[in-house]
Amino acid sequence: MTLQHYDIFKQDCLINGEWVGTADRLDVTNPATGDVIASVPKLDAKAVHQAIDYAEEAFKSWRKVTPSKRGDIVRKWYDLIIEHTDELATIMTTEQGKPLAEAKGEIAYAASYIKWFAEEAMRINGEILPAGTENTHIRVSRDPIGVCAAITPWNFPAAMIARKAAPALAAGCSMIVKPASQTPLTALALGELAIQAGIPKGVLQIVTGKASDIGDALCENAKVRKLTFTGSTEIGSQLMAKCAPDVKKLSLELGGNAPFIVFDDADVDLAVEGLMAGKFRNAGQTCISPNRVYVQSSVLEEFQTKLADKVAALKVGNGLHDGVNIGPLIDKAGADKVAEHVEDALSHGALLLTGGKRLEQGDNWYAPTVLTRVPADAKCTSEETFGPVVPLIPFDTEEQVIEYANDTPFGLAAYFFSDNLHRAQRVVDAIESGMVGINTGAISAANAPFGGVKASGIGREGAHIGIEEYLEMKYQCYGIK
Ligand code: ADP
Repeated sequence: MTLQHYDIFKQDCLINGEWVGTADRLDVTNPATGDVIASVPKLDAKAVHQAIDYAEEAFKSWRKVTPSKRGDIVRKWYDLIIEHTDELATIMTTEQGKPLAEAKGEIAYAASYIKWFAEEAMRINGEILPAGTENTHIRVSRDPIGVCAAITPWNFPAAMIARKAAPALAAGCSMIVKPASQTPLTALALGELAIQAGIPKGVLQIVTGKASDIGDALCENAKVRKLTFTGSTEIGSQLMAKCAPDVKKLSLELGGNAPFIVFDDADVDLAVEGLMAGKFRNAGQTCISPNRVYVQSSVLEEFQTKLADKVAALKVGNGLHDGVNIGPLIDKAGADKVAEHVEDALSHGALLLTGGKRLEQGDNWYAPTVLTRVPADAKCTSEETFGPVVPLIPFDTEEQVIEYANDTPFGLAAYFFSDNLHRAQRVVDAIESGMVGINTGAISAANAPFGGVKASGIGREGAHIGIEEYLEMKYQCYGIK
């Protein structure tokens, strides 16, 4: 069965409840085969401004829908997504490359944010505060911020949208989503399910086209009150500057350079398992993926042997085929960066334990790789590799490894393994990171606050505070006669 047979497979933009196309279009390709699988509209700035007008109109009535009703509608969206898991996952694997089992996992994960925020709609509480004087009364309400825009990346084509759209809609905002050009089809399918769920026209719109044209229109239009972005620090910082003139509220989830530390008092098998789970998901194309792996010298030999055995056993292939653990990189540029980092580390004296080569499947493919004794000046320790490469870097003391871990402008995720409670508390306190996994490599959850410090971003997604990003406080001071 081809994707075209799914009723949720859409190749037009969702604007004000209608599917809208353009003559000028952008191809979408399957990174595993290079085949063109669809094309989507290339909207111009005028069409984006028009969508913003629709969003503003829709906001006026959506904000007045009771939280309970809004929650019900968003919850219906969740139900439909779960019901369509197989179709959504197949669309995702075909445009993004990740193994089908992972794509199904992402749909469940994306849906979990939608369920979470459907429930949070009912908990947008206000406050009554003690008054400052005898004849005043202080109340604080929390109002939806207004028209929101989301720009999302290709590595998690469903989850990055769900995390943003669900809290926005639950809060009473309208939202325009600009998915990554590589993966618009999952986004458009989610849009179709949003219509089926009864999300009113204009409340959720999905626009495709040239990223900079759409991004510029969203940033320069003063009716957009909030921009939420997940992607590179470079683009995030540009968008921040573009949103400065009318002081839009921002959430930015940007690049990482996650350290993963294995102390000599760790359960080595558990640490290997944690690294496998965190590192090789999505072929390492995850912003919280462990990028630098520091292993205390006395356990390096044991750790690297066990790890290399597991990595060498990973099955690489088309994500739609059975038993595949790792798919292709998103594109040739992604694979080129991986190759460059591996070659750079080897030229600085690192040793290759497994992988270290491009694969015969084509330009987008790279073998899962483990490098050991990687020196501190190798590129892969300071830049995000965003691929299936583990560089092992030996260290001797806790003080030294904390210094290494924090020696980066980024601070998204960090991981460490230790069975010593005192050490765990010292290290977690010292690490500069928005999220820390302690004896685990899997940290993402809808009920936890996801986000970074330093150049990794601003704001948090998920948890009860995730909805705050779409609300503004209003302090009401009543004078009483
Ligand atoms: P990645 O390395 O994940 O592709 P990017 O920051 O380049 O990270 O892309 C993340 C999202 O930002 C994608 O939706 C992409 O299309 C969009 N994007 C890229 N360049 C711009 C830009 N100049 N203005 C607005 N959005 C952009």
